[in-house]
Amino acid sequence: MPAGLGQKFYCPNGAAVLAAASTSSSPPTTAVQSSSHQQQLVNHHHHGPQAGTIQNQGMPARPVDTRTAVVDPEPDRPIGYGAFGVVWSVTDPRDGKRVALKKMPNVFQNLVSCKRVFRELQMLCYFKHENVLSALDILQPPQIDCFEEIYVITELMQSDLHKVIVSPQALSSDHIKVFLYQILRGLKYLHSAGVLHRDIKPGNLLVNSNCVLKICDFGLARVEEPDESQHMTQEVVTQYYRAPEILMGSRHYTSSIDIWSVGCIFAELLGRRILFQAQSPIQQLDLITDLLGTPPLHAMRTACEGARAHILRAPHKPPSLSVLYMLSGEATHEAVHLLCRMLVFDPLKRISAKDALAHPYLDEGRLRYHTCMCNCCFSIATGRVYTSDFEPSASPKFDDSYEKNLTSVWQVKGQ
Ligand SMILES: [Zn+2]
Repeated sequence: MPAGLGQKFYCPNGAAVLAAASTSSSPPTTAVQSSSHQQQLVNHHHHGPQAGTIQNQGMPARPVDTRTAVVDPEPDRPIGYGAFGVVWSVTDPRDGKRVALKKMPNVFQNLVSCKRVFRELQMLCYFKHENVLSALDILQPPQIDCFEEIYVITELMQSDLHKVIVSPQALSSDHIKVFLYQILRGLKYLHSAGVLHRDIKPGNLLVNSNCVLKICDFGLARVEEPDESQHMTQEVVTQYYRAPEILMGSRHYTSSIDIWSVGCIFAELLGRRILFQAQSPIQQLDLITDLLGTPPLHAMRTACEGARAHILRAPHKPPSLSVLYMLSGEATHEAVHLLCRMLVFDPLKRISAKDALAHPYLDEGRLRYHTCMCNCCFSIATGRVYTSDFEPSASPKFDDSYEKNLTSVWQVKGQ
């Protein structure tokens, strides 16, 4: 393994992060040897403008300092992420490893909560991707009769992107690129599995001190609905990250709602503040149109009548996308170009995760990730051996047909 992130920041007693705070502006080199591999990696999708500078790109991003989020790892303690249920940091007595234990209480109160939990568990067991949280184990109850709660064991991650963004530590463009790369890499996998996350926000993007990122919390996730006449719930996505089509009452939406959320997070990483921080869903929509301008009629074709009337009643707004350059010094042309492909009002015109990964802005993030952070590539004496597929899809798609046949709490218990 190269002198990359993986080696440096796990000390034997598990008290992560330590050295993380290196303030050196020149992280260790030597992470990669062969420039031909790098060239392939950078040019994987595009001959981006960075191609000439790749010799310097093999260095790891300086790690994120998660010390504020890490206390003495010895005792069990609640760490608390997850929409439905408490998460604890515990030691697995079977092998002594620190893991996250999520308790899902009262899951059998009614069939709706039963199905939701069962779906989340099915997904956690199905996912096999480095940037998506998956279940290591599910603790079985001794007896089905007194079975009121479920415990899931997942990998333990020290922090999440929300904590990182609000922390005082600096985020370099390297950090932003490698985070965004992993978010989109995980999302491409989820979407290829036919799964909509529906609550992408910084708090649901777990990160460890090596800057490895995993999408978590599938409490609101569901399988995509190909039939446009089928109604889908609008009670999804934390308001700040909610796509305009949901704010406008569309009864049907697609995986592009997750991409909108990623765009908001990308801007938040750049600016270190929430991009659209409104007090109500209507104000949320107003803030979006302040930036993007009044949408054309065709972009509102699935909106409900009231929402469309609200937009049309207001004075016409011109777009003001140039303010995105003022988010930070890291908001380069390339960054803003990709950001503007995500923050598109019309979901049909919004970029997909797969296409976003082909944007030259992400070339450096891809190289960095596969040089010293991933598990899909490895190093041998003569250089780095790269995987043949940097951003794998899921196969087969996640299958939720079992759900249709679940008709009673007892039946779900028995599964
Ligand atoms: Zn790799």
